[in-house]
Amino acid sequence: AKWVYTFGDGAAEGRADMRNLLGGKGANLAEMASLGLPVPPGFTVTTEVCSHYYANDRQYPGELAAQVDAALDHVAALTGRVFGDAENPLLVSVRSGARASMPGMMDTVLNLGLNDVTVEAVASSSGNRRFAFDSYRRFIQMYADVVLELDHQDFEEVFERVKEEQGALQDTDLDADALANVVERYKDLVARALGKPFPQDPKEQLWGAIGAVFSSWMNQRANTYRRLHNIPESWGTAVNVQAMVFGNLGDTSATGVAFTRNPSTGAKELYGEFLVNAQGEDVVAGIRTPQDITEAARKNAGSSKPSLETVMPEVFAELVQTANRLESHYRDMQDLEFTVERGKLWMLQTRSGKRTAKAALRIAVELAGEGLITEEEAVGRVEPAALDQLLHPTIDPKVARDVIATGLPASPGAAVGEIVFSSEEAEKRSGEGHKVILVRVETSPEDIHGMHAAQGILTTRGGMTSHAAVVARGMGKPCVSGAGGIRVDEKARTLTVGSESFTTGDIITIDGSAGQVLKGEVKMIEPELAGEFGTLMGWADKVRRMKVRTNAETPADARTARRYGAEGIGLCRTEHMFFDAGRILAVREMILADDEAGRRAALAKLLPMQRQDFVELFEIMGGLPVTIRLLDPPLHEFLPKTDAEISEVAASMGASVEKLRQRASELHEFNPMLGFRGCRLAIAYPEIAEMQARAIFEAAAEAGKKTGSPVTPEIMVPLVATKAELDIVKARIDAMAEAVIAEGGVPITYVVGTMIELPRAALRAAEIAETAEFFSFGTNDLTQTTLGISRDDAASFLGTYVAKGILPADPFASLDRDGVGELVSIAVERGRTTRQSIKLGICGEHGGDPDSVAFCEEVGLDYVSCSPFRVPIARLAAAQAAL
Ligand code: ADP
Ligand code: MG
Ligand code: MG
Repeated sequence: AKWVYTFGDGAAEGRADMRNLLGGKGANLAEMASLGLPVPPGFTVTTEVCSHYYANDRQYPGELAAQVDAALDHVAALTGRVFGDAENPLLVSVRSGARASMPGMMDTVLNLGLNDVTVEAVASSSGNRRFAFDSYRRFIQMYADVVLELDHQDFEEVFERVKEEQGALQDTDLDADALANVVERYKDLVARALGKPFPQDPKEQLWGAIGAVFSSWMNQRANTYRRLHNIPESWGTAVNVQAMVFGNLGDTSATGVAFTRNPSTGAKELYGEFLVNAQGEDVVAGIRTPQDITEAARKNAGSSKPSLETVMPEVFAELVQTANRLESHYRDMQDLEFTVERGKLWMLQTRSGKRTAKAALRIAVELAGEGLITEEEAVGRVEPAALDQLLHPTIDPKVARDVIATGLPASPGAAVGEIVFSSEEAEKRSGEGHKVILVRVETSPEDIHGMHAAQGILTTRGGMTSHAAVVARGMGKPCVSGAGGIRVDEKARTLTVGSESFTTGDIITIDGSAGQVLKGEVKMIEPELAGEFGTLMGWADKVRRMKVRTNAETPADARTARRYGAEGIGLCRTEHMFFDAGRILAVREMILADDEAGRRAALAKLLPMQRQDFVELFEIMGGLPVTIRLLDPPLHEFLPKTDAEISEVAASMGASVEKLRQRASELHEFNPMLGFRGCRLAIAYPEIAEMQARAIFEAAAEAGKKTGSPVTPEIMVPLVATKAELDIVKARIDAMAEAVIAEGGVPITYVVGTMIELPRAALRAAEIAETAEFFSFGTNDLTQTTLGISRDDAASFLGTYVAKGILPADPFASLDRDGVGELVSIAVERGRTTRQSIKLGICGEHGGDPDSVAFCEEVGLDYVSCSPFRVPIARLAAAQAAL
């Protein structure tokens, strides 16, 4: 079998598309060599050797040694140097390279092949003794660190001691003798630590380094990284052995890194850094301040150190040319490593460069504009989830951060405001024109209005799926949750961190992307929706099949969603309208009434308000579909809690406080999520559903008249388990429609459908579809009811489940394809069997999660619906799913 692939001098046995076999680095070195770019010759030991090594008790394949020798001969023929030769030695680097770039793997060893004999040969052939010993001491230090696994600190101490003795400030101040002295002391150190001398045999050195690369595939760091990034163990790593080129051969030599475009802004400019008379990792290690590559960047940074463009104009010109060549060859922004040896440019690595979301967007759009990639490819180049970074104000990366506490990054974006400790305060102060941050131990459904009024939310308790986190994400507001280092006393209105205390009106900034709480006002950058963002979104819209709607009930959210491109409302949760300050009293009267007459009286007060809500939503949506869900949550969520609240309701109803208290306790439930909610309310108290249906129909008629385009509301019945439930509620809705039509004399069109959020409904979808004209998968509840996991109580164990691999991801964030997904597929299939044209959508949190959106495309849903701020993410994800 072939275990080794050579490259160099305009030819290579490998190619870029052989990444699985050669690893990323090896495949691209081969490709660059084939392109005729100046790549030091070398060879790649394949990932199959790594697999063989682990499958066979850490033994190499029998043919490997001979193939490595042959490859070394090949490199010798191309370089005119021989590995281990006493006169004209070849030195090599040994570099690991997995398929996916993987921190945690063995570090590179440079200058391998040096020993007490070859160092003298290098000294005389280069005419530079200092360089030879500088390379030797670097080699021993690296080899001792990464192959022999000795403490590198000890070596640094020796080096510093020699510098002191010599009165040297910089590494470069040490002369050849001083460096030779460092080498001697290093060798002593190794001998003492190891009980045997530093290996002098180059072959032993080489196999030591190759073995270290393969061993590092299974080290702790690499294992952890693989687990976190879902990289299978079976992939293995490759090893690259490559002739050394030297950036530390004096002032005409250098080493550096460059991006073909600016990785933080995406601007089309060569961007990078280099160091004169330096080797490999010196640039990243920061031992000296690197210099800019271009003159423009130098000026921009106000640096006094000359750019590569001025110090080595010819090398610079060749680098620019090479960068362009590589970028058009790979059709993507590249991250390059290069070294200059006595004025000659050598390329040591190329790969697709990491970039910020902003840069990804700009680069994708510009590459398409330049004709390097198609518009569809550009759509595929931007990570949908990364758009989140672009859609919220963020903290200016240039400013210093005074972080006073950290918590979970529960909802992205940053916000500044005055601290408030209650939702009432939040509403009041924001009504007076102040920006506020709502700070609470935790939030509950009653805080919705306060959360709306606030710029951002900070809680000291609760996880990523806590009420605060879920609602904030839905609203697109920054939120830091579970900041346990903070103590909040809501009564005393104090926020304490360590010895520092803050109170109402003090200004803080929260960074919901980083989970940080910062003192004072920090400078922000506003998101930009036009420009490249708009262009890419336009391309995405051309590609996608599924529609994207939004979950919204307030006019503000509906407008935001339309700005972000929503094509209708997929879920309007009417109960959110009931929490509004002006209405909660009437809602409470309705719930606490002890007979139908009492309920109807209270509902009559609510009717005009609901109607007005819907008129506004219909107008904003201008003829786009709007799905309205009838009242869903358990009634007790609306109950008055404090004495003052109870007295207020009692006074308004003319009932006794005692009686109300008793009625409230009657409504208590042990498990409200599975209790008296959803269509069960509509069946027990049909007058509630009737009021809502009337409000919807009257609003549709009114909005239709106003805007001139007819409105066809979609009325959605929640928490249906049986067809009979839906039939009963639908009959009430139909009757109400007839009544409103008769009263107004205007025709009204509407459809009635249901949420599929209980496993039984998914299974009985065929018969439910006899009545339902649409299904909307309520995957939040469907996940809860399928897994039997309460979203609100999952925080204590779900993390462990994911860490142990019991679940691949948080099923409330990313749809559980195997379980919940199967129920969705079943319902889709059975629903369509009965009603071929049934409209199908999803309205859980999953509607904005790219993986779940891909699943929705696979099962053929007609639309996804998500919170307004996720609409662009869903548009892009839907497009990518359709590609
Ligand atoms: P990493 O994956 O950590 O970047 P690399 O193998 O790319 O590790 O190498 C680390 C540094 O050593 C880089 O700056 C690289 O350019 C340099 N380097 C690697 N091989 C050689 C070589 N044959 N000659 C000169 N420099 C090299
Ligand atoms: Mg590298
Ligand atoms: Mg539900």
